[in-house]
Amino acid sequence: MIKAEHVYKDFGSTKVLKDVSLDINKGEVVVIIGPSGSGKSTFLRCINLLEPPTKGSVLIDDQDLVSLKQKQVTKVREKVGMVFQHFHLFPHKTVLDNLIYAPMKVKKLSKDEAVKRAEALLEKVGLLDKKNQYPNKLSGGQKQRVAIARALAMEPEYMLFDEPTSALDPEMVKEVLDVIQSLAESGMTMVIVTHEMGFAKQVANKVVFMDDGRILESNTPEAFFSNPKTDRAKDFLKKIL
Ligand code: ADP
Ligand code: MG
Repeated sequence: MIKAEHVYKDFGSTKVLKDVSLDINKGEVVVIIGPSGSGKSTFLRCINLLEPPTKGSVLIDDQDLVSLKQKQVTKVREKVGMVFQHFHLFPHKTVLDNLIYAPMKVKKLSKDEAVKRAEALLEKVGLLDKKNQYPNKLSGGQKQRVAIARALAMEPEYMLFDEPTSALDPEMVKEVLDVIQSLAESGMTMVIVTHEMGFAKQVANKVVFMDDGRILESNTPEAFFSNPKTDRAKDFLKKIL
């Protein structure tokens, strides 16, 4: 499991995370919602140590990322895949090469093995026929499905999604959410930052509402959406729904 304990994050004098604690159990899908600037991305980045917390700890399967040596951090971080709003594909590599790069370099897979795994994943996200294309020939939805397949190619135990559909044209949102939903159904442990409330209701085991660097509510989607407790959450839902 992932365990964030009393995480604080400052950027200079800006206090961005203020005592954030959250448990993410194996098989759970946690959706984080909240206004822009509330610290959602920073929190995700702290979970896989793209940003070290200023204070507090992040445990992944009982290993404290803060205290580990760099080499061990790399090992633990391999367990955590991340998908970003803006895809972050390698533009000069084909779809297939995007998928095989890290498994070969980091996991030392042979090219044959890496290609086999990549093709199976591309099939799963419906893009096997695009394997020799370059990212700039793909639609946003296709790019994001490639980014998800690329993260999965490292066989992570956890997946973090930071607004995976926010940069997409509306007609492409569903194809990406469908892929994420099928991952949820396959039992993948996930943390998803999203503004797609219908999706959150459907896939989340737990909804976490963040505001101003803190978790204000953490509840089942049923309880959260039907009966938000804080005025902040009520206001937020009123604006977004
Ligand atoms: P959210 O994802 O909820 O919109 P972010 O985590 O991106 O929120 O940002 C929260 C706050 O932290 C914002 O005020 C943002 O400007 C600030 N922030 C994020 N990253 C940095 C950084 N690298 N340096 C300085 N300030 C940052
Ligand atoms: Mg963000």
